This record gives sequence, C-alpha cells and structure tokens, in this order.
Amino acid sequence: MSVLTPPDVVLEARFARELPELGVPWQAVDAPDPRLLLLNEGLAEELGLDPRWLSSPEGVRLLIGRLVPEGASPVAQAYAGHQFGGYSPRLGDGRALLLGELTDREGRLRDLHLKGSGRTPFARGGDGLAAVGPMLREYVVSEAMHALGIPTTRSLAVVATGRPVVRERMLPGAVLSRVASSHLRVGTFQYARATGDLELLRRLADHARDRHGPPDGPSEQPYLALLRSVVASQAELVARWMLVGFVHGVMNTDNTTISGETIDYGPCAFLEAFDPRTVYSSIDDQGRYAYGNQPVIARWNLARLAEALLPLLDDDESRAVELATECLEAFPETYAGAWLRGMRSKLGLDGSATDATVSTLADDLLQVLEANRVDHTSFYRSLGVAARGDTEPVRSLVLDRPALDRWLARWRTLAPDGELMDRVNPVYIPRNHLVEEALAAGTKGDLEPVTRLLGAVTDPYRERPGLERYAEPAPTDVAAAYLTFCGT
Ligand code: AMP
Ligand code: MG
Repeated sequence: MSVLTPPDVVLEARFARELPELGVPWQAVDAPDPRLLLLNEGLAEELGLDPRWLSSPEGVRLLIGRLVPEGASPVAQAYAGHQFGGYSPRLGDGRALLLGELTDREGRLRDLHLKGSGRTPFARGGDGLAAVGPMLREYVVSEAMHALGIPTTRSLAVVATGRPVVRERMLPGAVLSRVASSHLRVGTFQYARATGDLELLRRLADHARDRHGPPDGPSEQPYLALLRSVVASQAELVARWMLVGFVHGVMNTDNTTISGETIDYGPCAFLEAFDPRTVYSSIDDQGRYAYGNQPVIARWNLARLAEALLPLLDDDESRAVELATECLEAFPETYAGAWLRGMRSKLGLDGSATDATVSTLADDLLQVLEANRVDHTSFYRSLGVAARGDTEPVRSLVLDRPALDRWLARWRTLAPDGELMDRVNPVYIPRNHLVEEALAAGTKGDLEPVTRLLGAVTDPYRERPGLERYAEPAPTDVAAAYLTFCGT
C-alpha cells in the first residue's frame, strides 16, 4: 500500500489514538477497476481538498481507502446497538472504515469515513461491500438534507469499484466517502458501557464533549451537560425531519448520533401523502419506525444513551437515575418547541400569533392533510401562493374543499407571509420514484438522471422552469406500492 501523501491531505488519528479499545486498525480492500461516479466539489473545497486532485487516479485511491496519508490510522469502529428494539452487543463497522479526521477550512474537525470498503472483523455474515444504487441514494438524500438545512453527514464521493456484489442479483459495487462531525453513536456508548471499563466510558464521553460540546458551564456536571445537549440536538433534529416529511426508516441506536446529525441513509424516504403511519422500509413490518413514531423512538434511543452514561452521572445510582430522567424529560418540550417554531415558519406566521393559536391551527391542518392524503411538500409550497392571494393551487390538492376553506379563512386572518414561506417550504425534495429512477440508471452506468436530480434537490427552495417533474408527486399507484430495501 502506498504511503505517498499529496501535500494538502492531513488526516489525524484522534479517535484511533484516544479510544483504541473502540476501533480495530484495518485496511480497505482494493478495487479492481475504480471509477469516480460522483464528486462533491463544494464539500471537497470546504475540506481543503483539491477536487482536481481527488479526481486523479491517486485521489480516487484516497477515496477508496487505498492511499493512506501519513499520520492516518484507519479503523473499523466498534459499537453495539438496539436494532428494532433488540440489543446486539457487537455490531461495529462491518463494511466501513474511519480513515481519520481532518480540519476543514473553518477549523472544524471532520471525520472522513468509507462505506463499502470490504469486510472487517465486525462483518459477521456480511460481505463488507455496498452496491452502487444504495451509495448513490445516500449521496443524493444526504446532500438534499444538507440543502434543506437539516444536520446530516455529508457525501464526498461515490466510486464504483469494478467489483460485482451479490444481492438478489449481481450489482456493481461502490464505495461512498462520507464526512461527519463525528461517527459517535448512542451504540458507541452502549458498547463502552458494556465493557464494564468505566475509565473507557469516561474517555469516550470526554472525546464526545471535546467534539460536540457543550462548552463547560460553571455549575453543571460535564457528563450531565453532554447528555442534556444530545437530548436537545436529537429533539431538534427529529423535529426537522417531521417538518420536511423525512422517514429515516431504521432508527436503531447505532444509527443515532451524538452530534445530532442524521446518519446511515438506508431505507429512508420522504412522505408524499401525509399520513403518520407511513412506513417505507421493507423490513419494518411492525411500523416501529413509521413517520409519526420518530419522536417517540428518538426519545427511547436517548434513554439507552442515558443508561449507558449512568455511572458517570453520579456515584449514587438512584441519584444518577434521577438526573438522567430529568434530562430525558426535557425531550418532549424541546421537540414540541422546535416543531412549533418550524410550523410557524412553514405557515408564514410571524411572532404576533400566539403559540397556542399556531399550535391549534397546525394540528387542525394536519387533520385535513391526513384525511385528504395530500402531498406534503407541494401543499406547503402552494400554501405560499395562497398567502399571496391565489388559493386555487392549494385548493386543487384537497378533496374536502369546505374543510380546507374553513382552515384557510382562519389562517388568512393571521396575515401569513408568502415570501417567508418560500424560504422554508421546499419545491424539490428527493421524491421516491425519482430517486429510484436515478439509481436504476446509475446502476447501469448512466449518471445523467442522478446529476439532474441532485441539481434540483441541492437548491430546493428556488423554483426553476424545466424542473416541473421534480416538484410533482408520483402517480398514485406507484406511490402506494413504494417500499425501500435496507441499504445493503
Ligand atoms: P446499517 O443498518 O446499514 O446501519 O448496518 C447495521 C450493521 O450491519 C452495521 O454493523 C453494519 O456495519 C453491518 N452491515 C450492513 N451491511 C453489511 C455488509 N454488506 N457487510 C458487512 N456488514 C454489514
Ligand atoms: Mg448503521
């Protein structure tokens, strides 16, 4: 393996060095015929990486983990996790590697991570590989989320490996390079706690505090402050998902970050017809991770984090439980506050309407949307048109016009601001049928549809002529049958 380092790639090995018990030093498998499919030039520049160099054969070798810059020490990270409620003591990166951390142009430390880079000691029965389609999906959806202002891991590149992977059929393989403010998960804490090594747990918590704050306050116990801030950032994150109609699909504790970023885009999808019971994942037959359950599940996952942290909160266990419970009890209020603030903007209302008014108005609207199976994204965008005086576009989306008209009349007395609405209600989201279409073409080597879709969803608020089909819901029969398969 080469140790040639281009002058501007400096990768640190902080996680590997500070938490050796939580990572296994490992190498990416070689790719027979690596080809760069997508490169995120803006993100590369943000990271101080030259996109032209990344596109060169040497750069592509970095993107598949075969060129390891000096100072880096790639590891497969260990973590545990509750998957669909059942505990697995040892999951870990079965097909992923943390290459190391780099400091971006703004001085922030960012993880550079690969997915699909070969089997690791955590692979269990898996082949360690990833197919082009799911890696393109993660790229498209994560970049769309970022453009929507939702905290998320980012996607730097997708490289086709030239190695076929065996799924229901043979598919071309790929490696995704991903960037995150860290890859610490609730499951990382569960794993550390389960070792029984409290000093390790404390080192992990210190590492997390170092990377994600909050800054040490004068009075608060530091680990309690950490828990409190993770509870707040997850509550705010899930509120953002709900406001945009995002269904993560596999909210296991190993897919719940300490940073508050969305991670691990597997069977995720966006709502079209508004319905809290919506489930897209083919493996979620109980609907545990249905759209409307996401806040409850996030809180449940945070309770698992709190349990893992208990020994650091207080020497007296019952006191520790009391402190943790009090932190968790902040979740509903933080969530509701973030959601209501978001709804206030979506409805174009300024500060003069009271929270109680906005809350009742929003709840009543959701009932209309659900009863009429209204397309979530186009509804809010058309409502912006209604704020400017033309109610026909929004009325055309709802069958029960009298119910909508009654609601519109109440809303209009609050003088909604259509300009404000257009800044928060996207025109373009990664609609499921368009994502599928783009992935199918990408799998066959045609990247044009993915590129066009990315063009629409990475600039989601600016309506542009020629992109009409990216703003429209799927034909009803297609939407009703839509299922996603876990991102393998
Ligand atoms: P995910 O649901 O993608 O977050 O994955 C859950 C766990 O399964 C993680 O520990 C992954 O590393 C592992 N995993 C998923 N797919 C594979 C694969 N093809 N080979 C090895 N491990 C995998
Ligand atoms: Mg995962």
